[in-house]
Amino acid sequence: MHSRVSPLLALLVPLAAAVIAGTLFSAVAAGEVPEQSAGTAHLSAGAVSEAPPASPEAAQPSLPAPWALPNSRPELLERYQAWAQLHPEQGVEQVVLQVNMGLDRPFYSGTQVLEDPDALTVLVNKYHLLPDGYVPQLEPLGKDYGHGSLRPQAARAFRAMADQAREDGVQLSSVSAYRSYEYQAQLYAQYLQWDPQEVVDTFSARPGSSEHQTGLALDINTASLSSHFEDTPAYAWLEEHCAQFGFLLRYPEDKQHITGYRFEPWHYRYVGVSAAQACTQLDLTYEEYLARLSPSQIAALEEEALAGEEAAAAP
Ligand SMILES: [Zn+2]
Repeated sequence: MHSRVSPLLALLVPLAAAVIAGTLFSAVAAGEVPEQSAGTAHLSAGAVSEAPPASPEAAQPSLPAPWALPNSRPELLERYQAWAQLHPEQGVEQVVLQVNMGLDRPFYSGTQVLEDPDALTVLVNKYHLLPDGYVPQLEPLGKDYGHGSLRPQAARAFRAMADQAREDGVQLSSVSAYRSYEYQAQLYAQYLQWDPQEVVDTFSARPGSSEHQTGLALDINTASLSSHFEDTPAYAWLEEHCAQFGFLLRYPEDKQHITGYRFEPWHYRYVGVSAAQACTQLDLTYEEYLARLSPSQIAALEEEALAGEEAAAAP
């Protein structure tokens, strides 16, 4: 195998840090950040101008200043401008992030159907829906690993994770993995009989927008708030180890304004090791992380997930 070792993470972490630092720097200029962080912000902000463009595409010459950031998307220019007008208190970096995440619009408005639903790094949420009738390739997890099926890559990764956990004295078992569009539609309709839609939307995905339909997400050990999974040794183990197996806690606490979902300590998504580790190290949701990357970096992330997959599948 030729060398595909250069970890994208090494490239992405400084970029994300630079973007964050850029935001911090504007905040410092506006006097919003305590004195002691200013030095760090200055140092990192300096790195923004010194960093070479990640790729020719990342330069995006079609975008006028000040919108030509490495992570800005030319097709969103009008939305950047509209959001900036509504929020003059926000810096350019913040505006670009907000719009890249889709958060300039209410959840479930301006939704897009995904062109590449089979990507291991695919983002499925209240703005990005799976195509009608989408069914991934699936493989049963196996009787020692709980209920259901996942895509082969995610199934292998989950079994490896559960095996390691077991060695550490922790039991991880799937209670819900792949769910079809039809099953999700039934679930969602059932919840609507008990709660108003704005409440249901905080804990159940509308059909077509569920990560469970990708075959890359699963609920571990429970799916109920009252069981307080976040207080268990299994949760603590996952917090420490899930990223090294390519899994990500997808709906963390206090991120409902970004993900649209309340805290789900049991819901994990396979995204590949690089993305999972980057999100964990930077303390970012998947939405926040992808919004910081250029389109070519997102493509590279997918390649890296596939390469990691090849390496894992090799005898
Ligand atoms: Zn779930």
